Amino acid sequence: MATSRLDQLFKTAVLFAAALAWLPAASENSHVTVYSARNEQLLKPLLDQFTRQTGTQVQLLTASEAALLARLGAEGASTPADVLITVDAGNLWQATQQNLLQPLQSPALEKAIPTHLRDPGNQWFGLSVRARTIVYSKARIKPSDLSTYEYLADPKWRGKLCLRTSKKVYNQSLVAMLTQEYGEARTETMVRGWVANLATEVFPDDTALLKAIAAGQCQVGIANSYYLGRLLDADANFPVGLFWANQAGSGVHVNVSGAGITRHAKNRAGAQQLIEFLASDVAQKIYTDKDLEYPANPKVEADSVIKAWGTFKPNVINVSKAGELQAAATRLMDRAGYK
Ligand code: FE
Repeated sequence: MATSRLDQLFKTAVLFAAALAWLPAASENSHVTVYSARNEQLLKPLLDQFTRQTGTQVQLLTASEAALLARLGAEGASTPADVLITVDAGNLWQATQQNLLQPLQSPALEKAIPTHLRDPGNQWFGLSVRARTIVYSKARIKPSDLSTYEYLADPKWRGKLCLRTSKKVYNQSLVAMLTQEYGEARTETMVRGWVANLATEVFPDDTALLKAIAAGQCQVGIANSYYLGRLLDADANFPVGLFWANQAGSGVHVNVSGAGITRHAKNRAGAQQLIEFLASDVAQKIYTDKDLEYPANPKVEADSVIKAWGTFKPNVINVSKAGELQAAATRLMDRAGYK
């Protein structure tokens, strides 16, 4: 096993060297290298604008979050990466635990990004916000039938609930935050109730789940806000509604995409400049409108598709808690039979 894993890391490193071979021989300060789990289409317009404004070129390498963390770890001090961009506080927390990031003291970022949306040790800053909340069939359910994540465990929803797999970090982060709020025992009872209420097997992704609700396979589910935003953007009559969970309590579960400076960044100043740019008003608007997320910077207005869902009360427990409690949450879901 160890050999095959090393083998794989070696192959990754070779592929990676090939991918970077085209880089111009430039001084370390004339470019910033970004490893991103967010796709190129989303980031490219922003990075181009950054280059126009500052003259700093950006080399972008995109891959899955797990592959990027493995690469950063394997490359160590020789990594070309200056900045890591990824989704979910659980992943960002993993990056800090694996010693892949470094603290960044930036008054501009501390001003732009609310405290609960950044690492308490300043190793990463949230750039966009997504809510993981309740979604429902507009044809079958009234919003007044809904209230909390916990209420989805009520026998009233037997055979009516759809969930995405517990293997996805989004659900691990959600359940981690619920254990922070309710404790493990109550959360485990809740998750067992969800499992008992499932209409069908768990889904591999949120979009499939939303389409199952639209098709009448189930009536309620839990999904990230932007997946519904995308479906509504394509078809304004898509028959699934979004309900803000836990508004009478501590608020709906929010998570982030975010960025940090890598531990072995060669161009630290350029990396800081780029992250500060991504948190600025102009960049926040472009970044979040494109993917239908909420700007992390509260001064910036969200896109009209998602503004239509109205304002909501977010749970302001620091999102890094999702990482800290993730392993326990995964074991809890396992015990509860949530596949
Ligand atoms: Fe996603």
